[in-house]
Amino acid sequence: MRLVLLGAPGSGKGTQAARLKAHLQVPHISTGDLLRAEVAAGSKLGLEAKGVMARGELVSDAILLGMLEDRFSRPDTANGFILDGYPRNLAQADALDALLQRIGQPMDFAVQLEVPQELLVERIAGRAREEGRADDAPEAVRKRLQVYEEQTAPVVDFYRQHGQLTVVDGVGTLDEVFNRIIEAIEPSNPVG
Ligand code: AMP
Repeated sequence: MRLVLLGAPGSGKGTQAARLKAHLQVPHISTGDLLRAEVAAGSKLGLEAKGVMARGELVSDAILLGMLEDRFSRPDTANGFILDGYPRNLAQADALDALLQRIGQPMDFAVQLEVPQELLVERIAGRAREEGRADDAPEAVRKRLQVYEEQTAPVVDFYRQHGQLTVVDGVGTLDEVFNRIIEAIEPSNPVG
């Protein structure tokens, strides 16, 4: 199963991806996590990305595509993956589509988690208290939500036009939202 999770910062993509990974037995590829690992390792790429991420802006498309190509070349993606945090703009959506066509692994589903803006802000504030992510500071959060609206929201239409989009209500408990996703991607095999 090849799946991409779409949704604003705070919509629950990371949390649901972790659950889906256990259920589907495929790796969870989070571009935010890959970048944070580079920052933590102090690599050249990490040093380049650090300031951009702290401001809530997007790291360059070229860096992201290189990272993804690298990740997809690992054998654990042969049976599928859950992608989270990519694509963030239409150029990335096109690049991903071309990459997956090239390796003969087209996307099965794009799942959009829909959550109202007030709730996003509340959830990110909660995460800021718990995890202390640099980009969960108020100014960076405003920027990330703005970047989402301007650059990432059009990606939803990209997948709609490709007939791959399924929209899921992201409001509710972790279990409720998880069950909605499973019903959308495995209608013949609902859980719980
Ligand atoms: P996330 O954990 O997905 O919210 O990502 C955290 C930050 O990493 C983002 O605010 C961006 O600065 C950067 N980032 C993650 N994924 C991408 C991407 N696909 N394109 C550009 N920047 C990204």
